[in-house]
Amino acid sequence: MNTDGWGGLQVYASSVTEYAGTTYALALDVEGRRVLCVRGDATGFEGEPRGSCLVAPLSATNAAEMRCRLPWLTPVPLGLATSAGTGDRLGLATPGHIHAVRAVGGIQPILAQQSMRENARTGRTPQEVVDDACWGILQVGWRDPWGADADHLKSTDDIDICVAAGYTFFTIDPGDHVDNAAHTDDLATLREKYLALPWDRLRDLPDAMRARYVGRRQVVEDLTLVFDEEALFRAACKYGGALAHTAEMYAHLVDRTRPQSHATPHDCHPEATEGSQTSHSAPAFELEVSVDETETPTSPLEHVFIASELTRLGVRWVSLAPRYVGRFEKGVDYIGDLDVFQTEFAKHAAIARVLGPYKLSIHSGSDKFSIYPLMAAETRRMAHLKTAGTSYLEALRAIAGVDPALFCEILSLAIERYDEDRATYHVSADAGKVPAPETLADDELAGVLDLFDGREVLHVTFGSVLDMYGARLRSVLDENEGAHYAALEAHFVRHLVPFAEEA
Ligand SMILES: [Zn+2]
Repeated sequence: MNTDGWGGLQVYASSVTEYAGTTYALALDVEGRRVLCVRGDATGFEGEPRGSCLVAPLSATNAAEMRCRLPWLTPVPLGLATSAGTGDRLGLATPGHIHAVRAVGGIQPILAQQSMRENARTGRTPQEVVDDACWGILQVGWRDPWGADADHLKSTDDIDICVAAGYTFFTIDPGDHVDNAAHTDDLATLREKYLALPWDRLRDLPDAMRARYVGRRQVVEDLTLVFDEEALFRAACKYGGALAHTAEMYAHLVDRTRPQSHATPHDCHPEATEGSQTSHSAPAFELEVSVDETETPTSPLEHVFIASELTRLGVRWVSLAPRYVGRFEKGVDYIGDLDVFQTEFAKHAAIARVLGPYKLSIHSGSDKFSIYPLMAAETRRMAHLKTAGTSYLEALRAIAGVDPALFCEILSLAIERYDEDRATYHVSADAGKVPAPETLADDELAGVLDLFDGREVLHVTFGSVLDMYGARLRSVLDENEGAHYAALEAHFVRHLVPFAEEA
């Protein structure tokens, strides 16, 4: 922190940025709130003059103006580079995430990433999620590429909101259109369902599809896959509706991100954007297709079917998240047979190379330490690791250390709320196995975050916790940001190292 020339405010030294004749810095005001200081041309910012600078709130208007001024504050598509998404439910974690990304090297971060479900539970808008990442980026002086993931989008309305907010990575989740019953339906039922697929939306015909698949050998590296009629019917019935939906979502996205029709929420003044616009040949967005939240695993044959059909429908995507074998529960390690997982995952990785290439995406990817090395090896690092709630858990670890009383209140509420709040999540914890806070000494509290049941119970109750303790939790983290960032950095380094390039 230094105060020279900033009207006496405490400035984050790493945030001081001089660009095109104007200097910007993030500072703490007298109440300890983060503010932006602008020295030089402050046109377009809202704020109060103080000495030689404008002291500006971290508002949406000022975030948009900053993105016009400093090109690296705008997220970009990352292509096939090894990447990691670091969901941030509190909007305070980006500096800690960047510390980890810097420490490890070789991984491109997606620093803004939130699903609509999480936005609803945290009371944040997609725009706030991007803006919070921008302020974190400015705070630590990050200037390398980063992405923004509009996660688990289910409707074209979701797309419109996230395009307007400047997202670059769009995760289409057609899971509601997957027919899980087709996994076990008998052949007669499958035959009926097959004929009833939305053939016009699929721009296809039952016989034409049959001719493309049945009996054809698909060679994928050292793997030979052959569809018989039943396998085709099963794949087509299970995923047909989802493919039609994905193609329609993709077409909508292409339309909404066309340069001429792209309505930005904030028009940059032309002189400030000169030279900072991405070239028109660069893709405006990248797509992920995720079927990870379906009930049954995606078989290698089904993966081939999904990729082949999406290609035929003109969809272009950078990563795909099958539903892998085994259990990917929130915030805890992989549950299942590691040998079976490796065998199946290797097939998915080969398919992604041969039919793409595209990245394999790993959803509910946090804390899966036992499988990271094999995932990195099998994909040859063509992978996207997606984490959402684990940053919140590490924030709670910091709270346990600096404000044990608050942690105890949060833990009590989480235990009480778990049975209701777990409904939409893949978790199997028993709240009865989480130690009650009154039985623990202060220095034992953080240990709850190392217990399977403790982690899951705290993970899925964040909506209830933020409703009751959100303001207090954020202010304790603000006052103890060093402890917060250190907890995040340590945890994310463990996630990223297995995916980083060999030294
Ligand atoms: Zn997911």
